[in-house]
Amino acid sequence: MATDRFDVTIVGAGPAGLSAALVLGRAHRKVLVCDSGTPRNWASKAIHSYLSRDGIDPTEFREQARSELARYSGVVIKDVEVTELKRAVDHGFEATLGDASRVLSRKVLLATGVLDHLPPLPDIEAFFGTSVFQCPYCDGWEMRDRPVAAYGKRQRGFEMARALTAWFDDIVLCTDGAPGLSEKELEQLRQNGIELRAERIERLEGDNGQLQAILFRNGERLPRTALFFDMPASEQSTLAQALGCAVTSQGRIKCGQYESTSVPGVFAAGNIIGDVQLAIVAAAEGARAAFGINRALTREDFDAPNRGGAE
Ligand SMILES: Cc1cc2nc3c(=O)[nH]c(=O)nc-3n(C[C@H](O)[C@H](O)[C@H](O)COP(=O)(O)OP(=O)(O)OC[C@H]3O[C@@H](n4cnc5c(N)ncnc54)[C@H](O)[C@@H]3O)c2cc1C
Repeated sequence: MATDRFDVTIVGAGPAGLSAALVLGRAHRKVLVCDSGTPRNWASKAIHSYLSRDGIDPTEFREQARSELARYSGVVIKDVEVTELKRAVDHGFEATLGDASRVLSRKVLLATGVLDHLPPLPDIEAFFGTSVFQCPYCDGWEMRDRPVAAYGKRQRGFEMARALTAWFDDIVLCTDGAPGLSEKELEQLRQNGIELRAERIERLEGDNGQLQAILFRNGERLPRTALFFDMPASEQSTLAQALGCAVTSQGRIKCGQYESTSVPGVFAAGNIIGDVQLAIVAAAEGARAAFGINRALTREDFDAPNRGGAE
């Protein structure tokens, strides 16, 4: 039996979900935030490009955000997975949590993020977040003046190599197999001084997470002290699909005004909606969704003042 009732259930306590909780908590909303503890930046040592927080440790960022939210009595944070979300019989939504409890809420915000697929190289986790990265906007500045590798197959590798030219002069594109690029693209790489290495990679070499070289299967060794890869990222949760949220041609959740999805009452924010994948953008999307949610709740209550909100 569902017992607790909230105005909003927020799934995911990354920058998007926590930012939404702040705006909603300050609007006197009763909010449940659930988090399963797998943030995208699990390997990162510092969040960059976040004005006033540039370089902050990601764990410290989340702790600070949670302690700010503790000021607002309506906000409850639970470290638990939301395993199921469905429409409630009367109105709103019913969430089933990992501890088997159930809660009801009038609106839902999905802020469940994505997780990166790492290049299939042995022990790459040991380098990820220290000298192997997926985003030059996040960590390019710290790696400046270093000899870098772009890693990616076909268009992905080409795009990453091109992006890195904003930060680096010494770039080698490693495609770890057939490049799959057109003559025009190969020529563009040459014109921009980007070397192409299509040999299969054996492994990365280095100590304490610091890359020193890329070792190819043919025994050759390419000295590099940073690597940026372009690989797919997967949504962390299938809750949006289960609720029936429409997706774009790129497979991302389709959002309208204030991050509303195609399912009335369901909003989405952060990396799952596939806009610019920076933490500050995720936080801004969370704030925008919170605005949309609070606006909708206020209008519903204003139009039917005797119906009542969360108990
Ligand atoms: C190595 C690395 C370095 C990065 N560095 C930077 C940087 O310097 N600057 C920057 O701006 N960005 C950086 N990023 C990107 C940044 O991590 C993301 O932009 C940001 O985390 C997105 O926030 P989010 O709230 O959408 O998702 P996340 O932070 O990923 O949070 C989503 C949360 O949802 C939870 N969740 C998922 N499913 C469920 C469920 N069913 N129930 C409950 N909880 C659930 C997860 O446990 C997770 O905690 C980096 C990323 C990586 C991988």
